[in-house]
Amino acid sequence: MDKPIRLAVLGSTGSIGRQTLDVVREHPERLKVVALAARSNAALLEAQVREFAPEVACLSSQPHWKMPDSRTRCWGDNAALTELATYPSVDIVVAATSGSDGFRPLLAAIGARKAIALANKEALVMAGALVRRAADQAGVQLRPVDSEHSALWQCLQGEPPDAVSTLILTASGGPFREWSREQLDTATPAQALRHPVWAMGNKITIDSATLMNKGLEVIEAHWLFGVPYDHIEVTIHPQGAVHSLVQFRDGSMKAQLGTPDMRTPIRYALSWPDRWPSALPPLDVQHPGAFNFYPPDVDRFPCLGFAQWAGREGGTYPTALCAADEVAVAAFLAGRLSWSGLSRVVQSVLDRHHNVADPALDDVLEADRDSRRVAADLVEQLTLEKVH
Ligand code: NDP
Ligand code: MG
Repeated sequence: MDKPIRLAVLGSTGSIGRQTLDVVREHPERLKVVALAARSNAALLEAQVREFAPEVACLSSQPHWKMPDSRTRCWGDNAALTELATYPSVDIVVAATSGSDGFRPLLAAIGARKAIALANKEALVMAGALVRRAADQAGVQLRPVDSEHSALWQCLQGEPPDAVSTLILTASGGPFREWSREQLDTATPAQALRHPVWAMGNKITIDSATLMNKGLEVIEAHWLFGVPYDHIEVTIHPQGAVHSLVQFRDGSMKAQLGTPDMRTPIRYALSWPDRWPSALPPLDVQHPGAFNFYPPDVDRFPCLGFAQWAGREGGTYPTALCAADEVAVAAFLAGRLSWSGLSRVVQSVLDRHHNVADPALDDVLEADRDSRRVAADLVEQLTLEKVH
C-alpha cells in the first residue's frame, strides 16, 4: 500500500469538512489528516483534533486558542489559514471554508503547489481569471468537490476539449421551486433553510433557494473547464439523481448519476484517478420512476440571471456579485432583509459597480471591499424602509 495522502481540511467543522472526515474514517489507510481549521466552533474542532491528532490546527476567530493537553500545534487567526494551506507535509488541501475568507488560502495553496479539492466556490468565482492563471502557472490541479462539477469532470475525462458542445448543470430548484411570486414575497429564513435534497451550510442553502448557487456554479464551471458561457446551461432536475451532463458535438450526451451524498464527490476528489469503495447504497434507478428536466424561471429567481450576466461581463463583476450576495444572505438570515430585498441588494450592487477588466489581486480585493460596503448600506436602507 502507498503512503497515505496527507490532508489539510480548511473548514473542518462545516458540512463539507465533516463529510471529508467521514471519508477519512472510511479510508484510514489511504488518508491522513495533517491540518484542520475552523472559525469559531471550538468544541467540535477540539473533538476532531483529539480524534485525528493533526500536526497543526487553527481556530481563526480566537487568537489565544490553545489545547494544552495535545501535541497538535494550535493557531488562532485568519492568517493561520494560509499557513495551514501551505503546510509543507500536506499533499491535498480541502478548501471547504464558506464565503470569500477562503480566497487567500486558496491562492497560497496554489502557490505552494498543493493539489486542491475545491468546495469553496466563492473563492474561485470572485477571482476566476487570477486563480485559473495561478493554477496553470504552478501546474496545480483544481479537483472539484461541488457535485455538479465533479459530475462534469467525470464526464469530460478522456474526451478531447474540442469535442465538447455544452455543459448542462442540474439544479434541484430548491424549496421554493413551485412557489408563486406572491408566495416568495413571504419566504422566511426557516423556510429557505429547508432544502429538499441536500443538508448543507446556511449560506449555500440560501443560495440554493435563490438559485444564486447555480449562477455561481455556472461561473465555477467556466473557470474549471474553460468552456465559454454560451455553452453552459442550467436545467432544473428535482430528483437530484443526475448530477450534471455533458453534450458532445456528435450529439452524444454523458451524465453522472448517484445517490445525492457529498461524500461521493469528496471521495473522488481525494482518490482521483482511482475510485475507492463506498458503503453507501448505490442509486436505485427504478425508485424515482421518472427523471424530469425543465428550464429555470429567471423571472422568479433573478439571482441566477444576475450571476450569468456577471460571469459573461467578467472583470470584477463576479467579485461584486459574491460580495453583495454574502452580505445580503447574512442580512436575510438575521431577519434584516426580506426575500425580495436579497435580490434587490445584489442587483443594485452590480448596477453601481465600476468594473475593472482583467483585474489584478488588488483590484479584486478593492472590488470586494467596496461592494460589501455598498451592500451593507443598501441593507441598512431597506431595513429602515421596512421599519417605517
Ligand atoms: P458550512 O457553513 O457548513 O461550513 C463552513 C466551514 O468553514 C466551517 O468549518 C467554518 O468554521 C469554516 N470557516 C468559515 N470561515 C472561516 C474562517 N475565516 N477561518 C476558518 N474557518 C472558517 O459550509 P459548507 O460546508 O456547506 O460549505 C463550504 C463551502 O463548500 C462553501 O463555499 C459552499 O459553497 C461549498 N459547497 C458546499 C456543499 C455542501 O453540500 N455543503 C456542496 C457544494 C459546495 P465554524 O464552524 O467554526 O464557523
Ligand atoms: Mg453544487
